[in-house]
Amino acid sequence: MSNEKYIQAAKDAVAAIYQNGKEKGLTRDQQEQISYLYWNSDATAKSIQDEFGITNIHATIMPLFANRSCPYCSFELVYTSRTRRDKDEITCLGCKHNNYGNCQCDGCKQARQQDWCKEAEEIRIESEFEYLYDLHCTTEYVAQTITKFTRQQKIFLRAFIEVVQNSSNPTWQEICNKAGVISEKPYSEKLQQLKLLWQKPKGGIIYNSAITLEMLSVPSVRSISKSLRFDVFQRDKHTCQYCGRRPP
Ligand SMILES: [Zn+2]
Ligand SMILES: [Zn+2]
Repeated sequence: MSNEKYIQAAKDAVAAIYQNGKEKGLTRDQQEQISYLYWNSDATAKSIQDEFGITNIHATIMPLFANRSCPYCSFELVYTSRTRRDKDEITCLGCKHNNYGNCQCDGCKQARQQDWCKEAEEIRIESEFEYLYDLHCTTEYVAQTITKFTRQQKIFLRAFIEVVQNSSNPTWQEICNKAGVISEKPYSEKLQQLKLLWQKPKGGIIYNSAITLEMLSVPSVRSISKSLRFDVFQRDKHTCQYCGRRPP
C-alpha cells in the first residue's frame, strides 16, 4: 500500500470540501465559521444554513478529528457529520476506511481475504479429518485392530468410552481411575496411532464410532497355567472342593 496515494486522497478530500464551499459562494473564513458552529454549538444545521443563505450544509463542513489513527494507514480518523460523531462512526480521509457499512478500503478487503483463507483452511482440515475418521470407522478395521490389544489397553479404551458416554464433563482423571492406571498418556497415544481415538481439529478427543463395548469385553478369570492347575488337582487328590465328587 502506498502512503503517497493516501496523502493525495486526503488532500483531495479536503480540497473537494473547499471547492463545494466556493461553489456556494462562501469564503474560506465563512466556511471555517460554518464548520466551527456545526461542531461546537447546538445550532441546528438548518439554522446555520439559513444564517449563511446556503443549502446542503454537509457538503461544506470540514470533518472533525476523532483523536485516533486509522488502523491501516495511520492517518487521523475523522467524523463527517454530527450523526456519525454521535454513533462513533469514523472515516479515514487517506485510505477511505470506515467502521460503518461494508467498508471497501484496501485494508478491510485484505483483512477479509485473510479471513476467507483462514476459513477455507479450517474447512479443508475439518473435511480431511472427517474423511480419515470415516475411513477407519468400520467394524472390520476396529475388530482387526482390537485383536492385537493387551488386556490393559482394552480396559482403558472401555473406560474411556464408558466415561465419555456417561459423564457430563469427562476428564482423563476419571478415565484413569476407572481403568486403574496412573496416566492416560501411553494409552491415549497408542490408541490414537491405532486410529481408535481421534484428536479433533478444533480440540477434544473422540473414539472410533465403530467400537462397541462388546468388542472390549475382557475375561474376568485369571489365567492359570496348566502345570499349576495340575498341581492343584494333585494337592486336592482330584476331588472337587465344593461337592466332593471325583472324576470316574
Ligand atoms: Zn486509513
Ligand atoms: Zn476499511
